[in-house]
Amino acid sequence: MDRKRILITGAAGFLGSHLCDRFIKEEYEVLAMDNLITGDLKNIEHLFKNPNFNFFEHDVSNFVHVAGKLDYILHFASPASPIDYLKIPIQTLKVGSLGTYHLLGLAKDKGARILVASTSEVYGDPHVHPQTEDYWGNVNPVGPRGVYDEAKRFQEAITMAYHTYHKVQTRIIRIFNTYGPRMRLNDGRVLPAFIGQALRGEDLTIFGDGSQTRSFCYVDDLVEGIYRLLMSDIPDPVNIGNPDEITIKEFAEEIIKLTGTSQTVVYKPLPKDDPTQRQPDITLARKLLNWEPKVSRQEGLKITYEFFKSLPEESLYKKEHNEFKRYIKK
Ligand code: UDP
Repeated sequence: MDRKRILITGAAGFLGSHLCDRFIKEEYEVLAMDNLITGDLKNIEHLFKNPNFNFFEHDVSNFVHVAGKLDYILHFASPASPIDYLKIPIQTLKVGSLGTYHLLGLAKDKGARILVASTSEVYGDPHVHPQTEDYWGNVNPVGPRGVYDEAKRFQEAITMAYHTYHKVQTRIIRIFNTYGPRMRLNDGRVLPAFIGQALRGEDLTIFGDGSQTRSFCYVDDLVEGIYRLLMSDIPDPVNIGNPDEITIKEFAEEIIKLTGTSQTVVYKPLPKDDPTQRQPDITLARKLLNWEPKVSRQEGLKITYEFFKSLPEESLYKKEHNEFKRYIKK
């Protein structure tokens, strides 16, 4: 059988590991790559016994080579939470720029189709709401989030250039806030932060007045969107996210109800350049991919809460992933 081969970068991370599961299920040979700074082998250890799964510890900011044929590449390596990319800004810039450059080169060399993970952060603090793909965004290049946002904007530009100039088959997905099992409890993002606080019996920290909005998509829905976009013939960016928008204050109330915690909320300063509103316009995904989210926030949060509850207690108190510490300058 001519088994398809796919390279997945960031494979030990939250999204990457779910993508490994999906493509193993689709009977692909999966080449999984991660430098393990923010990724965790625990997310993929259940795949190690599968003969169609191979793991390579490698930083794609350096030259990437894999032996043999390659049909597809999914580039999902990157720190992805604001506190992560504040701690390791240079690595964040490098993996989005140099990493993408290396993987595009590999795609060109192998004749592989490549899908790169872009982000709703390319819209910055958006003046168009909900965000449509034709909106150019409002990004502060030199603000704290600039290292992530601008790396991803460069990623889109170089990906499009390889498509138009080298005729590489490229796909660009703009991912909005996503959640589900295997998020890191301590990655600083709002959902693990709130659930972690509830589990430790602490008050939930709302940044600012909590009137800022986000729209949360369950990971299985996102993976289906990625799969459909990869199999499509659309080189232009496509938003994938759940348009069900909620304020952070309302979200905290939902988590309090879900966890049954007797704690309340406390207010902390709003981080610089924190977007005031975010909601994907998914008209394109609906029309071109026949995709829309299926999992309600209520359902998805329940599954995610069960996952966090099942973790060993010490993970509630871990500050950072072990490998992470090596990279943080004191
Ligand atoms: N946030 C919060 N409390 C926390 C962590 C985050 O109020 O403990 C807010 C944050 O300021 C932002 C929103 O929740 O407005 C989503 O933050 P997250 O870091 O999850 O992702 P973002 O969408 O900002 O990249």
